[in-house]
Amino acid sequence: MSIENDFILANDYEKKYCFNLFNPAEVAFEHGKGVYLYDTEGNKYMDMIGGIAVNSLGHSNKALTKTIAEQSKKLIHCCNYYVIPQRADLAYRLCKLSFADKCFFCNSGAEANEAAIKLARGYFFYKGSPRRTIITAKMSFHGRTLGTINATGQEKFREPFGPACPGFDYVEFNNIDALKEKIDNNTAAVMLELIQGESGVNPATAEYVKAVRQLCTSNGILLIIDEVQTGIGRTGKMFCYEHYGIKPDIMTLAKGLGGGVPIGAMLSTNEFATGFEVGDHGTTFGGNPLCCACGITVLEEIESKNILDNVNEVSKAIVDKLNELKVKYPVIRDIRGKGLLIGIEFAELLSAKEIKHSLLEKGFLVSAIGTSVIRIAPPLIISKSEAMKFISALENVLKAKK
Ligand SMILES: *Cc1c(COP(=O)(O)O)cnc(C)c1O
Repeated sequence: MSIENDFILANDYEKKYCFNLFNPAEVAFEHGKGVYLYDTEGNKYMDMIGGIAVNSLGHSNKALTKTIAEQSKKLIHCCNYYVIPQRADLAYRLCKLSFADKCFFCNSGAEANEAAIKLARGYFFYKGSPRRTIITAKMSFHGRTLGTINATGQEKFREPFGPACPGFDYVEFNNIDALKEKIDNNTAAVMLELIQGESGVNPATAEYVKAVRQLCTSNGILLIIDEVQTGIGRTGKMFCYEHYGIKPDIMTLAKGLGGGVPIGAMLSTNEFATGFEVGDHGTTFGGNPLCCACGITVLEEIESKNILDNVNEVSKAIVDKLNELKVKYPVIRDIRGKGLLIGIEFAELLSAKEIKHSLLEKGFLVSAIGTSVIRIAPPLIISKSEAMKFISALENVLKAKK
């Protein structure tokens, strides 16, 4: 029997040989189809978290598995010494779909944000008037590298791993006066998520984002929007910034872009692309033919299957039903988010971890944030009737806890 079919052994090795970082639930998945995952015992689960907004096309999407199979037979990796047509094509498509003129590919969200921070600083350096500070929001999340834990406006992510890296400042989210006060002549950029996904699905207000855009423009500093979680259709538009009627100067992407293969991207306008000269930045794996071919397939599927319409329709059905539940079950305190990135906040007497656990027992996967928020970020291809099954499971959990 191989370890893949032996859960007890896998669980044992996981505990013995993997760093104890994730505290995984005692379940291992063997395969998936659409919004469903099947564990090694043959049990079926509805995947309402989609690998944390990663499995945008669902599991074992036909087009994506075909791309992976075909591209892997031709060329998986090729170094940056040569032209990579898949990289060129994906960059072209992302630029056409967005405000951007230039695109850099890497392997993760944190790396995309690292590139954004470097580009902003490089821009002022090459202009001959260096500015170093990046202002980010409290309760933000920008990644786990030494740079991005310092960009992240949450002390708990950096405290054990100090010294703190200079060049970052934090302001209260959705408070324009706090930002006005912080900007000085060393400020290079403001970096924001439009929906703070990792700290409880907290959206920026429309007035705030418009005011931040104006403030950045009038001070000649860059606006970096971290769309690692919100990008590529997650919120019902290709990019979340489109909801706000603004354009960033730099945008970062990752999670949903590859439909499951690791890929990140940092995009900017031509003006700010001057922050990098040849050799200033790089990557071994970033922009490889396999991952870029997958990114192209994800974009093609979103367009040809009208996935954005599906996101908006299913989102509305979920939010309407959640609002009905909120009336029936006052333990539901708040429903937040956009598209298929939704946070459900519960009153203190009901812990999010408990709800997550009860849902898992019923065969539904969600994530719990802090003590009170359940986040859902299912594959963008989820149907209304599938989503309604989740809603009734949630209602059953709430009924049982009443
Ligand atoms: C997940 C996430 C990151 C980090 O992405 P990794 O791929 O884990 O490095 C950065 N920013 C936001 C908004 C995220 O949600």
